[in-house]
Amino acid sequence: MSHIFLDHNSTTPIKPLVKETMFEVMDTPLNASSIHYYGRKSKEIINLSRKKILNAVNAKNAEIIFTSSGTEANNLAIKGMHDVDFIAVSAVEHISVLKSASSTDKVIIEIPVDRNGIVDIEFIKRIAEEHKKRILFSIMLANNETGVIQHIKAISEIVREYGGYMHCDAVQALGKIDVDFTALDVDLLSLSSHKVGGPQGVGALVIKETISLKPMIDGGAQENNNRAGTENIPAILGFGMAIDLLSKEVSNDLINYTENSIYDYVDDKTDIEIFGRDVSRVYNTTFVAMKGMDSQTQVINFDLAGIAVSNGSACSSGTVKNSHVLKAMSINDEIASCAVRVSIGEETTKSDMDRFLEVWKNNYEKVKNRNNICERKNA
Ligand code: PLP
Repeated sequence: MSHIFLDHNSTTPIKPLVKETMFEVMDTPLNASSIHYYGRKSKEIINLSRKKILNAVNAKNAEIIFTSSGTEANNLAIKGMHDVDFIAVSAVEHISVLKSASSTDKVIIEIPVDRNGIVDIEFIKRIAEEHKKRILFSIMLANNETGVIQHIKAISEIVREYGGYMHCDAVQALGKIDVDFTALDVDLLSLSSHKVGGPQGVGALVIKETISLKPMIDGGAQENNNRAGTENIPAILGFGMAIDLLSKEVSNDLINYTENSIYDYVDDKTDIEIFGRDVSRVYNTTFVAMKGMDSQTQVINFDLAGIAVSNGSACSSGTVKNSHVLKAMSINDEIASCAVRVSIGEETTKSDMDRFLEVWKNNYEKVKNRNNICERKNA
């Protein structure tokens, strides 16, 4: 059976050229802390990837700290900002942000979102004014479950006005929309390589020159004393190469086609809900609930048909728990428990989506038939 991968927000296939480039250095003993030839070569590789990533996110004067993942970048951004007393996180942040914040001894403030998952700007204004430079805000650029894009620039303007700090998790935005560190005017920005066709095991935290962080890992002076531990040189090289290969243009066509086909197919429009449909979302994501069939059953039915989709964020899959993102968006439990996330990639074709739609309709017919039987029994 051929398999169709529609779960690119969990991870993306590594690009062949990235893999090839990494293989070329894998049998070379690379450690950037050494003074000899191999050490110098390692530094060269790291610095080249640094430059590529900083250029790609228009952060030429900023610093970049390579980490093991987007998760670690988020941890470092939040736990490393030792000078603040308050941390404000949106209720729809990735679990690595939410858990990092709650593990600190700071006062945590949760920023509410509306039914489309957009953060409450008035609320932000109030707390930015109240806590001035003693507060760190952490708000993501694009949500991993819904694909909803936040108005980071408008939020940063408010935060700047009152002197607070701004961290932005751009892990799901990179490669999908323009991520411009300077224009967004944030202090810290998290990225992850395996979401953009790079290898797993490497992420990055971009920080303004004026930011000083308390490191989380004790050890050597790597990454300008910000992150001890020998750098993962092949992965950093691969990350840089993946950045070179980022698509310049992306299109909403396939997701629009899929959502419109679903919407047109159902007779009773209240049988489905497409989350965040009224606001800007990244081109590759749709999160759709089908009333009457729980997420797990749908995901299994898709899997049996050779299609990989998700019931929400990868970190919580395997556990039957409703999404905290949908909960924050005030979506009732019955609908939230029936949501399936589809996230396409550069290699996804219309025929992949037609196959997806075929199985989706099949699931829907099962629900309708079951409901008809129940109605007849109750009559
Ligand atoms: N932030 C967001 C929005 C994510 O979607 C993810 C992963 O799904 C992460 C952070 C964590 O990134 P990583 O998988 O590199 O740890």
